Amino acid sequence: MPPDATLLIRGGLVFDTAGRSFRAADVRCAGGLIEAVLPPGEGGAAATVLDAGGAFVLPGLIDCHVHITSAGEAASLNTMVHETPALRAWKAAEHARRTLHAGITTVRDLGAAERLNIDLARAIEAGVVEGPRMLAAGLGVTMTGGHGHGFIAREADGPDEVRKAVREQLRAGATAIKLFASGGVLTAGVDPRSPSFTQEELTAGVEEAHKAFRVVGAHAQATDGIKNAIRAGVDSIEHGVWLDEEALALMLERGTYMVATLTAPWAMATHGPDEGVPQYMIDKSNAVLEDHARSFEAAVRAGVRVAMGTDQGTPLNRPGKNAQEILRMAEHGLSPASALLAATAWAADLLKVPAGRIEAGKQADFVVLPRDPLTDLSALADSDAFTAVVKGGSIVRAAPRENSIGGTK
Ligand SMILES: [Zn+2]
Repeated sequence: MPPDATLLIRGGLVFDTAGRSFRAADVRCAGGLIEAVLPPGEGGAAATVLDAGGAFVLPGLIDCHVHITSAGEAASLNTMVHETPALRAWKAAEHARRTLHAGITTVRDLGAAERLNIDLARAIEAGVVEGPRMLAAGLGVTMTGGHGHGFIAREADGPDEVRKAVREQLRAGATAIKLFASGGVLTAGVDPRSPSFTQEELTAGVEEAHKAFRVVGAHAQATDGIKNAIRAGVDSIEHGVWLDEEALALMLERGTYMVATLTAPWAMATHGPDEGVPQYMIDKSNAVLEDHARSFEAAVRAGVRVAMGTDQGTPLNRPGKNAQEILRMAEHGLSPASALLAATAWAADLLKVPAGRIEAGKQADFVVLPRDPLTDLSALADSDAFTAVVKGGSIVRAAPRENSIGGTK
């Protein structure tokens, strides 16, 4: 949006983060930011008017854990390793477009081969590719033979090497950092119940990231890996499959976020057998599924901070379908309003980005829906029905209603 461009969203029901409810208001935007939230009818004139016509206006959604360069094919690892970087880049541009059009206006990409995520973020920033705002980790950092090695992670051993590996990502332009604190589901021969980096290694990585003001996400499924990561000071635990009382207490004490990615094992366990996901992945998914849900529910009950993340790009976890995680979080203990906050305000707090709330000074990113998501969260997953998606004050897409978007006043 040019600095002097103005947008008025008129006649909508606007989500009030503090009140956890919708209220009638007009939203004025200028230069890509929200300028004011005003009583209905007091929005004045603007170069572009989006007539919301009683629709529900939410902040753009934020997915704190994606691998946007992956389509989420059944055998996504093969694609990641065997397709040429150029082909993957062309595909990634399409994934980014789909993600944005589904109302996801910000993502954090936690690992891509050849650091394609950093280049994609730059292409989007430059306006060459249509997509969400991206924080990109480059490659994740894992121990030799650890989860992610050979596709989305660089191996490192010992605190000094971990430090260097993080510095390499920063040098390449990473705007987030990913560390692997335990085994995982997708890497053959790696047990998700085993911790990986030591606490000292994780501490070195976190120090380097935080020195550069980058947020750190730790892949952590195993209980000891989770605790090592929290004690090392990571900002978010990704997956958090096996949380115990001590881990929950540590998360509360340190303010560590839980980014559960409930969709990842769910998609594999539910659709994997029919769609050709490798058997070892399905077996490992089934093994984590119930414990994962139980841990998430325990985290919610304990009052741990939660932010939405899908792990989009894992098998059958497709770009543009990200909002299904909101439904899943609500199935496992979050109220509908809290699930919305986890995908907006709380996610923005974790990522330290000026988004996720409809208030003056925040980025003018919105999803406008015809149905009330607090009554039925599935409205968020029905992106075909969206009234509009707005990023940085520019209308990305709008429902083809002739009179809904006027040129003036
Ligand atoms: Zn991931």
